[in-house]
Amino acid sequence: MATIPWLADVLRGAGIQVVTHGDWLNRMRPGSFSPIGVLWHHTAATSSATNPHPALNICINGRSDLPGPLCQALVDYHGVFHVISAGRCNHAGTARASGPIPAGDGNTMLIGWEIDYNGVNQEMTAAQYNASVAATAAVLKQLGKDASYARGHRETSTTGKIDPSFVDLNVMRSDVAAKMAGGTAWSAIVDNSTAGRFTASASWGVSSYSAQRYGADYRYADPVAASDAAWYKFNVPATASYRVEAWWPAVSGYNAGTPYIIATTTGNQTVYVDQRVNGGQWRNLGTFTLPAGDANRVAVSRWSGSAGYVIADAVRLTRV
Ligand SMILES: [Zn+2]
Repeated sequence: MATIPWLADVLRGAGIQVVTHGDWLNRMRPGSFSPIGVLWHHTAATSSATNPHPALNICINGRSDLPGPLCQALVDYHGVFHVISAGRCNHAGTARASGPIPAGDGNTMLIGWEIDYNGVNQEMTAAQYNASVAATAAVLKQLGKDASYARGHRETSTTGKIDPSFVDLNVMRSDVAAKMAGGTAWSAIVDNSTAGRFTASASWGVSSYSAQRYGADYRYADPVAASDAAWYKFNVPATASYRVEAWWPAVSGYNAGTPYIIATTTGNQTVYVDQRVNGGQWRNLGTFTLPAGDANRVAVSRWSGSAGYVIADAVRLTRV
């Protein structure tokens, strides 16, 4: 049975704070272990700054119905990696095919991060996310695999697991890819349905009327001379130039002068588009300097002088 005794060193080499627990090199489940990818989970325990790793003991020792270890590493509230095992762990169960990961024994194929947050009314902290991205990039490099080998448990589960909550796994993979490329190649899409990354008031209705939509649906609102923008939040990796693109479904009765607001390093800039035309594809709004950090970066404003619904569907940022 293979093990990954390099795990703690590879994580430290990626700049991650690491704590090893006990005899982690020899703590593992019996059975095969030949990892080709990394699987993200959440623990469902509520963590906090003063109780940063409530699920650590369970992940080491297991529970009555499932013997430990339950993951190779637990990621605490502060983004510290607690390394538990260099071998096979009970975290993935039977996997269904997901991306390049074939169906089969998930505990053989996958290294698991248990990210300690409850996933119901608590999302992972920025420190947990950033450390998990950096760790996943470093481990996949070590394995000789690309970012598509990073998956979420909800993508491989055959039993309806929902973890990890509040993270768009496609965004996660683009962030891992950017990290593996040295941080210079980066692109991310936020759709109106992207969990935790799109905010709009209840005045914005939900529609699937136009087949030109991105994803299952989009949001629409009447123009109004008031501030009631729909916001798209991005985790911008560095202060740099980014191409900003928008996708909307076009309908002849939609708004001819929809304002998109871009929050740049020098303040908000507005670009007007005609949502009666050019739908169903990415449309370039221009290139802007955006500040690093996870924050609302692009908005669709209702403050339009034109008639017809303003539409908020998807936005894409690409580092240029
Ligand atoms: Zn899980």
